[in-house]
Amino acid sequence: MTFRSIEAVLPPDNLHFVGDGFRVYGILGRKEPLSMKRMSPFLLLDYAPVHYFPPNNGAPRGVGPHPHRGIETVTIAYKGKVEHNDSTGAGGIIEEGGVQWMTSGSGILHKEYHEKNFSKKGGEMQMVQLWVNLPAKDKMTTPKYQNINNKDLSKVELENNAGSIDIIAGEYEDHKGPAASFSPLSLFNVKLNKGKGTSLSFKESHNTGLLIIKGSVTINNSKKAPTNHFVLFKNKGKEFTLRADEDAIVLVLSGEPIDEPIASYGPFVMNTDEEIRQTIDDFNSGKFGYLD
Ligand code: MN
Repeated sequence: MTFRSIEAVLPPDNLHFVGDGFRVYGILGRKEPLSMKRMSPFLLLDYAPVHYFPPNNGAPRGVGPHPHRGIETVTIAYKGKVEHNDSTGAGGIIEEGGVQWMTSGSGILHKEYHEKNFSKKGGEMQMVQLWVNLPAKDKMTTPKYQNINNKDLSKVELENNAGSIDIIAGEYEDHKGPAASFSPLSLFNVKLNKGKGTSLSFKESHNTGLLIIKGSVTINNSKKAPTNHFVLFKNKGKEFTLRADEDAIVLVLSGEPIDEPIASYGPFVMNTDEEIRQTIDDFNSGKFGYLD
C-alpha cells in the first residue's frame, strides 16, 4: 500500500517568551512552510516544551490582558496548570492533562497565567496553544468555553498493548472526542509504548501534521521524527504509520482547510482588512470590556 507522503520533518525554532510565563517554540503560523494557511484550519501553534519554573511569591507569571476575535484558542496543559480570567468575570483552571477550547468569536478580553498554587510551589510547565480559524460565517459567533478535564477525553486503548489515543476532537474508529468545532477537524494525543506502533488515516484533502511531544517516532517505516519536531504531510494519500523508537506522545492535527482569505493583526484573525480596522475600533472603544 502507499502511505500518505511526508512533505517535511521540521525542527523547532523561534523559541521566545509569551509574556513572562510561556516559553514557546512558534511551530505554526510564523513562517514558511508552516504559514497560517498551510495547516488551515490550524492557524498558529505555540508549543512550550518542558521547562522548570522556580517557586514564585509574586504575581503568577503569564500573559496580561489581551483580546481575541475571529478564532478559537485551544490550550492543552501537558504539565503544570494554567489559569485564566476574562472581562465578563468568567475564569477557570486548565488542569494537568486537560484542555480548554475557547471560542473567541465576536470578542473576548482575557489573561492567561500560571495557576496560583502551581506558581507558588514552582514546577514543570509543558503546554500547547493552538489557534483554530473560524469560517467567515462564524467569526462573530457568541464567545464560549469548553472546559475538558483529562478524564472527559475519549480514550481508546490500542491493540497489542501499543498504547492509547486521547481524542480531544474528531473521531477515531467509533470513538468521538468531546470538543465541538465549527469545521471538520481531528485533534488527538497518541501515546505509544517503545517499539510499538499504530496507523491513522485522514481524508486526503485534510491538512495533516504531527507534533512530537515526547520521545521519538518513525513514520511510514522510513522517516524519524525526534522530540519537538513537526511532521508536515502532503495532501497525498490517506493512511500513515507511527512506531515509537522510545515511549512517545504525538499530537495529531488534521482538518478540512478553510479556503477563505486571512487578514490577521496580532490576536485578531478576520477575512478582510476592513474587518480588522473595525475590530481595532471596537477594541479601542471598549466593546471587548475591561480587565486589569
Ligand atoms: Mn489569549
